[in-house]
Amino acid sequence: MMILVTNDDGILADGLWVLAKELKNIAQVVVVAPDREQSAIGTAVTLRQPLRAHRIRPVVPEVDTYSIEGTPSDCVILALNKLVKNKIDMVISGINQGANLGDDVLISGTVGAALQGYLRGLPALAISIEAVDSHHLDTAARLAALLVKWLGSSAVPNNVFLNVNLPNLPLADIRGIKITRLASGFHTDTVEEGNDRKRQYYWLVRRKTDKVADNQTDVWAVEQGNISITPLHANLLNRLAPAIPGNLCSELLQGLREYHSLDNG
Ligand code: MN
Repeated sequence: MMILVTNDDGILADGLWVLAKELKNIAQVVVVAPDREQSAIGTAVTLRQPLRAHRIRPVVPEVDTYSIEGTPSDCVILALNKLVKNKIDMVISGINQGANLGDDVLISGTVGAALQGYLRGLPALAISIEAVDSHHLDTAARLAALLVKWLGSSAVPNNVFLNVNLPNLPLADIRGIKITRLASGFHTDTVEEGNDRKRQYYWLVRRKTDKVADNQTDVWAVEQGNISITPLHANLLNRLAPAIPGNLCSELLQGLREYHSLDNG
């Protein structure tokens, strides 16, 4: 079994290496990670400039390690298509320092990297812990190693990948593990402004809203002191959306044709 480990906190992040070290006990591990922090880069891929890969001395001995001047998604694509000669069986992204819950999965580089593995037909998981300086990375790493056994098996449907979030608690204080769905509406983007050498700047700042999390959502589970495991898939179709009136399409087409006749009139 060969596991590709990557992240969005960058090649120097503790979470990456605690994870790689734990997984090395049960599988062959290769680390291909961004050379710097790429949090909130989502699924971005680099198409307009060349990518450089540096094979570097591993932090964990005997783990083939590449530092990439690119995004987490670039790392997965490069690893699968070029850098790693052996067949990769699974992609694990993390351990991210900071939760990736609810709508945030759409901008998370940690989840974005797992998505790239999933889109290429591999079992994949993203794992995050709810603090930027957690002392409980070992719990998350152990959980990832346990999940490896399940991820490639029939217990987990092969049309999903997993988004795992841990509360920032010692193992003894964790209440349980919940299979959850994504919450929504838990962040709002605000803009702060100031001056830097007389030039105006803007900072985008994400703030938590005071919305109460619905039962069975990932936000709810972690707030209650549980580990959250959310199965995700890449189908953005919202089957629960109210039906869009059937005459919308004919009205749009009519509108387009009116423009066209004005242009040609
Ligand atoms: Mn991150």
